[in-house]
Amino acid sequence: MVNTHYPASHVMETYKITGEIVTLDITDIVLNVIGKPILSSVAAASACKLTGVITKESLKEAVFKELMSIGLKKEVIKKNVQAALACFDRISEVHPGYFKPKKEEEKDEIVKLGYANPCLGSPSVYAEGNTRLKKTGNWRLFKPIIDYEECSRCLACFVHCPHSCISVDESGYPMIDYENCKGCFTCLDECPKKIISRKREIRAW
Ligand code: SF4
Ligand code: SF4
Repeated sequence: MVNTHYPASHVMETYKITGEIVTLDITDIVLNVIGKPILSSVAAASACKLTGVITKESLKEAVFKELMSIGLKKEVIKKNVQAALACFDRISEVHPGYFKPKKEEEKDEIVKLGYANPCLGSPSVYAEGNTRLKKTGNWRLFKPIIDYEECSRCLACFVHCPHSCISVDESGYPMIDYENCKGCFTCLDECPKKIISRKREIRAW
C-alpha cells in the first residue's frame, strides 16, 4: 500500500517494483474529512482492507474503541471513524480488480509468528572499550531496582537498555550492571509491568 495520488503503474515503474501494490492518496482523505494530516486511522483502515479478513463493522468498532481509550473528543473520534470507513471503501473503488470477494473456504490463513528469544536479536556490548574504567554508574542519581517477584522475564528492559547494562542470567532474569548503569530509566519506561523502581543514590559505586 503506497500513500500517493499516482496510480500503481506509475509507482511500480518509477521505483522498479515487481510485486503487487495498491496506491491511494490517504492524505487527501484525512485532509478532507479530519482537516489535519493525521494518518493513523486511515492507515489502519487500508491495512484492514488489504488483509481481506477484517470487516468494515469491526474496523469501525476498533477505531472507536482505540481513540476512546486515549481520551479523544467525541467529534474527533467521529471524524476519524468517517475517514477510516471512507478509506476502506475507496481502496475497492480505485482498485476494483484487486478485491474479489473470497469464498469462506478460500480465506487466507492467519499466520502465527513464532517466538524467538530476544537474546538472539539484541545488540550487546562485548568489547566495551574504556566503559568499565569510567564506571559510569557514578553518574546515577537514582538506582533502578527490579522486583524479581513480579518480573515476567519478557526481557523488554534487556532489549532497550541503551547502554547494554542489562544482561540475562541462566534462569532468564535480567541483571543490571550497576557499575555502569547510568540511571536513564529507559528500562522502566519499557517494562510492560512497570516493576522497576527508583531508589535515591547516595553513592553509586
Ligand atoms: S537505568 Fe538506563 S542504563 Fe540503567 S539499566 Fe535501566 S536502561 Fe540501562
Ligand atoms: S521489562 Fe520488566 S517484566 Fe520484563 S524482564 Fe525487564 S523487569 Fe522483568
